[in-house]
Parts: sequence; C-alpha cells; structure tokens
Amino acid sequence: MSGIYIHIPFCASRCIYCDFYSTTLRNKGPQFVEALVREMAERKDFLHEPVRTIYLGGGTPSQLGPSYIRAILEVLEKNFDLSNCEEITMEANPEDFVDGSWPFFEGRFLPGNPLPHTINRISMGVQSMVDSELKILRRRHDSTHIRIAVKRLREANINNISLDLMYGLPTQTLASWEYSIDELLKLQPQHISAYNLSIEEGTPLHDLVHKGELTPCDDETCLAMAALLRKKLKAAGYEQYEISNYALPGYHSHHNSSYWNHTPYLGLGPGAHSYDGHRQRSWNTPDVQTYLRGQRNEEVEILSDLDLYNERIMLGLRTASGIPMSYFDTLNDAEPYTLNSNQESDLNNNLSSLLDRHLVQIQNNRLSLSASGLALADEVIRELMIVG
Ligand code: SF4
Repeated sequence: MSGIYIHIPFCASRCIYCDFYSTTLRNKGPQFVEALVREMAERKDFLHEPVRTIYLGGGTPSQLGPSYIRAILEVLEKNFDLSNCEEITMEANPEDFVDGSWPFFEGRFLPGNPLPHTINRISMGVQSMVDSELKILRRRHDSTHIRIAVKRLREANINNISLDLMYGLPTQTLASWEYSIDELLKLQPQHISAYNLSIEEGTPLHDLVHKGELTPCDDETCLAMAALLRKKLKAAGYEQYEISNYALPGYHSHHNSSYWNHTPYLGLGPGAHSYDGHRQRSWNTPDVQTYLRGQRNEEVEILSDLDLYNERIMLGLRTASGIPMSYFDTLNDAEPYTLNSNQESDLNNNLSSLLDRHLVQIQNNRLSLSASGLALADEVIRELMIVG
C-alpha cells in the first residue's frame, strides 16, 4: 500500500510559532490546481502499490475553498487508482468553516455530484480552547469558532474528526491546559494530536522570547501538562498510539502510521517530500512561485543503511508498538558503514542502561518506550541512535 501527500501552502496569516512552508498569497487556486495537474501527469508512475491514504496538508488546505478541493480530488481520481483508498484527510482551520467561505451543501462537504472517493477525515488546528492563548499565537479563530466548526462538519457527515492541541504556551497554566483538554473532550473528536510548543529560529515567537516579551512554560510544567493529557485521554477511552497522537479505538490515522512504517508515498506541491519505500527521499523546492511556473527543482537524497537504522529508531520508537529487536541486527551488515567496536559497545551499554532505568521495555521481541520513557522520549531515542 502507498500514500499521497499534497502540500497546499496557503494561509490567511502567519501564526507566530510556525516554521512550516506556507504563504499568504491569495487567489492562486486556479494556477495551483493547474500546476498540480502537471505534476501528477509527470509523476503518476512513482507509486507501484495501490493508494491507501491521501492527505491534503499545509499551510491551510481549507483556505483554498470547496471548489478547488473538489477539483484536486477529481484530478487525483483521473491519475491514480483509488479503488483501495480508505482515508482522505484534509487539514483545516476552524474559521474557514464559520466565515461563509465553506458554505456546506445540505449534508455534504463538497459541492456537485458525490465523488467516488472524497474527504472522509478532517484534521483541525485547535491549539487551545482559551481565547487569550489563541490571540497570543495569532490564530484567527476563537473557541466559539471551534465549537461551530465541529458541529457543521458533523452536519456535513464528516464523522472522523481529529483536533490538534498545543501545550507549553506563553501564559498557559496547568489549570488552563486542563480546561482546554476538558472542553476539547466535550466535542468528542475521534482523534487528538497534542504537541509541545517548540520555539524555532526565524519565527516571530523566537524573537519575542529572545527579547523577553513572551515566556513559554518551563520544562517541569510541560512534563506535568503531558502527564495530565495522557491521564485524562486514557480515562476518556483514547489510546496513545504514538507520542503525540491519541485515538478512539479504530480511529488511528492510517496516513500518519504509514510514515512510521516506511510505506512509500508521493508528495505533490511546493516543499512536499516523497519516499520510494526503499532508499530514496526527494522533495520539491518550497517556493510556490517556482511551483506555479511548473518547476519543482527536486532534490534527492539516497539513504545509507545507517540512515535507515537511525530513521527506524527515531520513528519506530515514537509508536506504542515500538520496533522489532531485529533492527539492531541490521547494523551488523550495515553498508557502507560498519560500527566500530566503541560504537557497538556504546550502543549495547546504552540499551542496557535504558532497560535498567525502566525507560524502555522488551515485549514479544519488540522494544518500546515505557510510561516513564514516554516523558523523556527525545533523550531515550537519542541514546539509541548512532552518529556516523
Ligand atoms: S495556519 Fe498552520 S501552517 Fe498556517 S501559519 Fe498557522 S500554524 Fe502555520
């Protein structure tokens, strides 16, 4: 099975923490769809396995509006065999479902005749249910928009809704975080993703923190917030199937899981990454103007055995099911890289020490993070990676 990712880079404005590739250019729908048509025609043979999932990410795909989203689905249908496609997700921001730009059509999400394969999952950037926190992030929505958007999506028969939250925000407290979780749970989403705010260089947030105008939460508070989230979501029946992802039974994101399982995917659009399922990763230049002119300026990276090992450790240990112990064996015949005896003994020592400290566990010949390891995931994963 394989996946398709389409990067739709348009945003109405920039949030202060964001370092994704996006642009505030407007009214580029027709040229963007044309450029996608060209890219699909060029690359339709990239995937050799049936398409199982499609993900429209961004940016803010909902900014493009329902007619262009429908046009993109029609072009996908023409270029790929979607007969095995189970999940089509679109990322969205709540305000687009409230301000009239997404009119909704009598119980249907898109205009026109029903499509054979259409959006059946929405992933919406909520971030917080506290209006003052949303303002600081320069989000365009407030908590009322979120509640209305979820209600409208359900009326349009979207019954698989994922909502994103962020913790560690400036001014956020453990109590306000608990309020956000409780209010979000009242909306009964099938899936919840929660991320610790990260302060990336080059973002307005980075400058404001640097100048002392904003103060994010300290590490101890962030750990307490993550623990509170795990406790409340578990009590509400959600399974944590990856460090940042929780789902009601049967609602794991198939598309995201395929990234962790090394499934091939084709990335279309400016800045989109592709993976051939073996050793090749490639990506389009993240520049919408270049893309609209029909140029992708693709870059390609060929992964070594060591790169593959490190990726498997990094991605696999983020999941609840972890990695097979046999991954470590692949290092014995890694080409073109072979571990020297120091590296081999460091790796063995690190693994033993993590097991002794109960930060990782081995069950059914698979290695995974323990409950205490989850709280220190980045450090644990780093100890099992090998620097070449
Ligand atoms: S809406 Fe999303 S992609 Fe756009 S600027 Fe905000 S965080 Fe970034």
